[in-house]
Amino acid sequence: MKRPLSKPFTPYYRGRFAPSPSGPLHYGSLVTAVASYLQARCNRGLWQLRIEDIDPPREQKGAVRDILSSLRAFGFDWDGSVLYQSHRLAYYRHIAEQLHKHHLAFYCECSRKQLMKSPETRLGRLYEGKCRKLGLPSLTGHTLRMRVDKEHIKFNDGVFGVQSYDLLTDSGDYIVYRGDQLPSYTLAVSLDDLQQGYTELVRGADLLHLSARQLHLMQQFNRQLPQLLHIPIITDANGQKLSKQHYATALDTRHSSFLLYCALKDLGQEPPKYLCYRSINYIWNWAYSHWRVSSIAPEMSIKQGF
Ligand code: GLU
Repeated sequence: MKRPLSKPFTPYYRGRFAPSPSGPLHYGSLVTAVASYLQARCNRGLWQLRIEDIDPPREQKGAVRDILSSLRAFGFDWDGSVLYQSHRLAYYRHIAEQLHKHHLAFYCECSRKQLMKSPETRLGRLYEGKCRKLGLPSLTGHTLRMRVDKEHIKFNDGVFGVQSYDLLTDSGDYIVYRGDQLPSYTLAVSLDDLQQGYTELVRGADLLHLSARQLHLMQQFNRQLPQLLHIPIITDANGQKLSKQHYATALDTRHSSFLLYCALKDLGQEPPKYLCYRSINYIWNWAYSHWRVSSIAPEMSIKQGF
């Protein structure tokens, strides 16, 4: 596959696409993959693939294979080998222990039920700090929470502009390691994104509200933080997010040109109609020379356009 040559060479861009294998690739994830791929390739950067497979109950057998073969059918080519979060569980655990050792995190015995009864929780602060000073040990059933004080997190999203969060009221002491001995989504994603040195994270706007805690966690490691760029999520006609949990239909790769055309359209790129009838390679080459982030609508969601 040809890559665009017209832009100046900026070797520092590193991007990724990080699907969870809870089902086959659906149209919503295709749109995210297209946006992150075009951002990477049009910046002459790297694009990697990470499989977020650390939540076994939500995984579907064969989903990884389906996702990879759909991506290939749509003409995506990723750099290096695919990264699997499930291969990094010992590392996540080690970092969680370090956070505890350095008093940045504490163990908590509160059950979800207890927390729901707390007046603080009802006021919108998700954790009132009950276990902060108890010095609880690491035991199955105990969650590990980051200690959050009055922290103000501000960042400039590539689509949504300046975002500003008061972490104490937005998330409170958030979980980094779960009681069932698995890393939280926030811990795994933040560590991977930092360690792989991604310069920009392109992903669905449903994750925008989690960005503040991810940036907060990343700040603890003294590394360059990535830029963030959130794109609208795709909903069905009833306004329901297309997701594997809601049985969004798998992509029919026999219609890959049409679906790729639709993805570009939903990303505000105004592709000409005739592209539907062209090859995948032709459409990618059109996209390379027309890609404009500023054309993406700064909306949380948009309805699937077909
Ligand atoms: N695994 C997440 C998903 O499938 C994406 C995580 C991310 O891009 O940060 O929605």
